Amino acid sequence: MAVENLPDFTRPARQRWESIPADIRQRLLANVWCGQCRHEVTIINFTGTIKSGNLLLVGKCAECHGDVARVIEGS
Ligand SMILES: [Zn+2]
Repeated sequence: MAVENLPDFTRPARQRWESIPADIRQRLLANVWCGQCRHEVTIINFTGTIKSGNLLLVGKCAECHGDVARVIEGS
């Protein structure tokens, strides 16, 4: 997924996200735990912010459309 298609990232969150290699980013998006599906899912319609120095992605489960989130710890 191209970064240009992520308008809902704050500027620092986008910079952090862009610093991650594309293949790693893809993996991060594809193995987000969904508490409703009870397995790893793909996160969709996500936004990105920096929280406590970590990159926080908040979005929807691709399968049940429930709320899911992933924290990517700061470097
Ligand atoms: Zn789900």
